[in-house]
Amino acid sequence: MICHWEKIDGFRTLNELERFITWIEGQIQVGNAYEVPVDCRYAGEMMPERWFVCKDCQSKWRLVFPDPGYFSGLFCLVEGEK
Ligand SMILES: [Zn+2]
Repeated sequence: MICHWEKIDGFRTLNELERFITWIEGQIQVGNAYEVPVDCRYAGEMMPERWFVCKDCQSKWRLVFPDPGYFSGLFCLVEGEK
């Protein structure tokens, strides 16, 4: 099953990140998603990250927060998990 969630390869603005967080938290509130503990991190310990599961297909996704000037952030499927 292909997940209907879409990869976000970098947030261009803080507003875009905030809109995404509002969306994912809305998905949790209506029962389409839930949050799980972060297992293996995308980057080092210092990079804030949250993991979410899509209830439709049980795929696991990571949100890696941006680090302005270095990294624009990411929302993507956790590799090796479906
Ligand atoms: Zn899905």
